[in-house]
Amino acid sequence: MQRSDFIEPTGNAALQSIVPIGHFTQTDQDYNSFAQSKIDSIVLPTAINKVATQTTTVKCNGKSVKIHAIQTGTVAVKKSHITNRTAHFLTPIKISLDRHFTEFMPIWVWVIEHPEGNIVIDTGENANVANPGYFDPIGKLAAAYSKKNFKFKVSQENEIGFQLRQLGIKKDSIKNVILTHLHIDHTDGLKDFKNVEIIVSEKEYKNPSGHFPELVPNWFKPKTVRFQTDFVEVFNEAFPLTKAEDLLLIPTQGHTKHHTSVLFKTDECDILFAGDVCYNQEQLITNDLPGINVSYKETKNTYEKIKTYAKYNKLIFLPSHDIDSGQRLTNKTELEVR
Ligand SMILES: [Zn+2]
Repeated sequence: MQRSDFIEPTGNAALQSIVPIGHFTQTDQDYNSFAQSKIDSIVLPTAINKVATQTTTVKCNGKSVKIHAIQTGTVAVKKSHITNRTAHFLTPIKISLDRHFTEFMPIWVWVIEHPEGNIVIDTGENANVANPGYFDPIGKLAAAYSKKNFKFKVSQENEIGFQLRQLGIKKDSIKNVILTHLHIDHTDGLKDFKNVEIIVSEKEYKNPSGHFPELVPNWFKPKTVRFQTDFVEVFNEAFPLTKAEDLLLIPTQGHTKHHTSVLFKTDECDILFAGDVCYNQEQLITNDLPGINVSYKETKNTYEKIKTYAKYNKLIFLPSHDIDSGQRLTNKTELEVR
């Protein structure tokens, strides 16, 4: 089945915010010493089958908890955005010259029907991204870069607000929206969450990478949180998002300077909603660092922490653009570290 069978193309547009121009200042030393020519081994999604919301149920403190994987449209980027062995400052040029796009990748949003209230992790993309003037507010250079290097397919039916209504999840039942970072394919669904408490790491909010305040709603004033130390083994720091302390915001830096992930500790396994730590699980397993990074060194460090954690804990690993994330959630497929 073709993608067009399930997603109405609304035209191509692009975003600068995935690409933090101005942050490509490091050398590629860290990357080259680590990645070792993984460029040919990367597994890119080759097809996206019809994707409805995928739901699983886990036991959490003895109670059944539903988790939904909701796809809010798809995005395609240049292949060198996904994997790259160039010094940071050359990356935007290399991406712009790259004539090859990836297949369209999902933009996942996660919803946990937690006993303390429904939790939404990231908000995905919205259909307005296809409007010709959508990127005008961010300036000519960034807008031109975005239009050249990104493509979206997002319909109004793909938007998180629409899909939550389809699931019968009312806005006033949502306890919190958690943002892993402030790129637009994670924040463009915010328009559906006015008056809901939104949580962002204080560091990510105060020192974001590739964030455009012009593109978030003017009412956006999240609750910012600081990590507590000595909390989660391996990651050390965390902020408990629930009273039960089973849902934790943890630092997973690299994609942005203060990128975060959400760790859900259930009775049967742990689940890591990993944002843009990498673009698919295979990248993590093969130590293939993404082309887009604020810091290769920090991403490498984050990879090592996640893999160490997975050695000692049953862990389901769910990046935001991995075609297989929804299925790994429903099949409860754990990360196997080689
Ligand atoms: Zn991002």
